[in-house]
Amino acid sequence: MSLFAPAACPRLVVKVGSALLVDAGGAIRRDWLGGLIADIAERHAAGQQVIVVSSGAIALGARRLGLPKGGRASLEDAQAAAATGQIALSGAWAELLGDRGLTAAQLLVTLDDLEQRRRYLNVAATLGRLLTLGVVPVVNENDSVATEEIRFGDNDRLAARVGQAANADGVVLLSDIDGLYDRNPTHDPDARFIERVERIDAAVEAMADTRSASGMGSGGMVSKVQAARIATAAGAHLAIASGRVERPLSRFADSGRGTVFVARPAQPARKAWLQGRLVAGGTIHIDAGAAAALQDGRSLLPAGATRVEGRFARGDLVMILDEAGQPVARGLSEYDAEEAVRIVGRRSDELEAILGHAPRTALVHRNHMVVA
Ligand code: GLU
Repeated sequence: MSLFAPAACPRLVVKVGSALLVDAGGAIRRDWLGGLIADIAERHAAGQQVIVVSSGAIALGARRLGLPKGGRASLEDAQAAAATGQIALSGAWAELLGDRGLTAAQLLVTLDDLEQRRRYLNVAATLGRLLTLGVVPVVNENDSVATEEIRFGDNDRLAARVGQAANADGVVLLSDIDGLYDRNPTHDPDARFIERVERIDAAVEAMADTRSASGMGSGGMVSKVQAARIATAAGAHLAIASGRVERPLSRFADSGRGTVFVARPAQPARKAWLQGRLVAGGTIHIDAGAAAALQDGRSLLPAGATRVEGRFARGDLVMILDEAGQPVARGLSEYDAEEAVRIVGRRSDELEAILGHAPRTALVHRNHMVVA
């Protein structure tokens, strides 16, 4: 039994990959889905709250519309396939959950819905209300309106962000692979299975070079490790487990077979939200003194910045890099890019003379920053 027992999580997110839900002929694998829903019903009866993140809309829709490359040949195809497939996908979830006496609710969200703080709080409130009403939320990306630049593109990171918004204790990614290996197991029979990851470092990232074997979803191991980074920073365990079995949730709970990324001590909610954000508007390079100050938990002052790149407005997310170009922190800029360029390297008491106003002494305040 692994240390992350899904049966023990009051709030659980279960993500289901396309290849598990949709067969090669483009039909929903209803028997398998029925088994998973039996697992969910069991958890529900035991008093747990479950959120589903379900892929499969593009794969289903592509088949119905006869589109090439699984609907992923162009953005327009993916959007049309998602719109067509989503209605069938939602229908199947609603019907099969209904067979077990459970009510389904559908949420389609874009990346922006989770990146903009106010919209993120809205999503969090809706999820919370649905869960207290005893409903099973079924979430997917709103692929039919999302454009390439503002898409998650994979439901692994979406599941982690949803887990964070819902303050979940655990996220289970059911996949066509049973977990993380130190090398690609399809190419290398000596690949070692990794049961537990305490810290996601460069070595762990390097293990994630494999892509999903099914060719149906868009995730692969890289996005699963990124999802693990988001979930664990938000204080939730994340597991990758095989969905290639009947009753996959109980199987994982009973056997413990899967890779578990261990939750880190939960950070204040706002910082955890920052950590999970994906799109940075710009970059601020800093000197060694400032890098040390940031590690000590202090704010970034203009004096410690050496260069500013990108276009960003006040309040946008910026990456903060050290002299070697390595990420030190990320945070919300107190100044827009044009102003930031002008005050780089300057002392805080010079700002008013340079800008004509100086609402903030810091370029990035420590309350709005997470150190890498
Ligand atoms: N949102 C996509 C869909 O429903 C799946 C994304 C993924 O493959 O992770 O088809």
